[in-house]
Amino acid sequence: MSKRDYYEVLGVERGADQKDIKKAYRRLAQKFHPDRNPDDDKAAEKFREVSEAYEVLSDSEKRAAYDQFGHAGVDEQAGGGGGFGGAGAGGFSDIFGDVFGDIFGGGGGRRHPNAPARGSDLRYNLELDLEDAVAGTSVDIRVPRHVECERCDGNGAEPGSSKDTCPTCNGMGQVRMQQGFFAVQQTCPTCHGSGQHIKVPCHKCNGDGRVRETRTLSVKIPAGVDTGDRIRLNGEGEAGINGGPPGDLYVQAAIKPHPIFQRDGRHLQCEVPINFVDAALGGELEVPTLDGRVKLKIPPETQTGKVFRLKGKGIKPVRGGPPGDLLCKVVIETPVKLKEEQKELLRKFQDSLGGQNGHHHSPKKSNFFDGVKKFFEDMKP
Ligand SMILES: [Zn+2]
Ligand SMILES: [Zn+2]
Repeated sequence: MSKRDYYEVLGVERGADQKDIKKAYRRLAQKFHPDRNPDDDKAAEKFREVSEAYEVLSDSEKRAAYDQFGHAGVDEQAGGGGGFGGAGAGGFSDIFGDVFGDIFGGGGGRRHPNAPARGSDLRYNLELDLEDAVAGTSVDIRVPRHVECERCDGNGAEPGSSKDTCPTCNGMGQVRMQQGFFAVQQTCPTCHGSGQHIKVPCHKCNGDGRVRETRTLSVKIPAGVDTGDRIRLNGEGEAGINGGPPGDLYVQAAIKPHPIFQRDGRHLQCEVPINFVDAALGGELEVPTLDGRVKLKIPPETQTGKVFRLKGKGIKPVRGGPPGDLLCKVVIETPVKLKEEQKELLRKFQDSLGGQNGHHHSPKKSNFFDGVKKFFEDMKP
């Protein structure tokens, strides 16, 4: 797939300065932001394209490489969070190889201190009631995260003051130390790797360029989500570093246990207790579903553990397809707190079955005791 020219993507002149590039990026990123264009794959692709173009053009060194070599000069870096790969990085090893190569092998993705880096992704664990997960809902969540400092535009320097190149490392963020035979590169102790010396740190962010903020976000939960499903909010993660694009926020769903239903993918399961008279004579039960009660016919001579399937009364899957079923498992409940006259009725009933020998009324029981009898006979020497 051939990529569009980054300048064309952002709609700026080749000679545009950083201010114009940032302005163009902000305008386009807002326009194509997935929150404003839900379920729009084209907008999502545009958003990605714009972010990638900005990641390169906002970094003077990547931009220079792009101007000279085109996409081939920066492709390794664009998606990789600004890592400077040694192997296969084409023109880069010639330009920057000396600085970042040697002892680190060049393959470790050492990042230039001033290169824009994408912000970290964040994960938010969201517990949902089964009803909300099935029907879909909208939830406000509070997300603590780092955002770009508004006072200094993420730059770290107090407005009106300037930044210098760090005198210790000459802006490289790394210093070389001789240790025996080896030259070892270490993070510059003066600038802590940023390569820059901030004369007057921004009062709001203390020179960090980012501030911590708790933002309330409204998250649309699509109908049918299940435990483990993730909803991605593009660009709602941590702010980028040095003007890089922000990371994403992943909202990870977990469904709370429900007092009646257990979920099994698109199917629902529940246990329905019935008394032994209904089980023996058959009848009609009311069983719960997620959209109200429905009647369930129980045939005579229903045994405990029997599962009745209510077609289509399960969950409509979030990724499409027909709804699942509701599986009702009948559990026969032994009556409790019987009065003497009720017990007497049961004894009479028992006698009517032929006492303890009423085999043909209890096929399972008679099979079982036949089996037990045979078991002990086989044990005899
Ligand atoms: Zn600031
Ligand atoms: Zn330094």
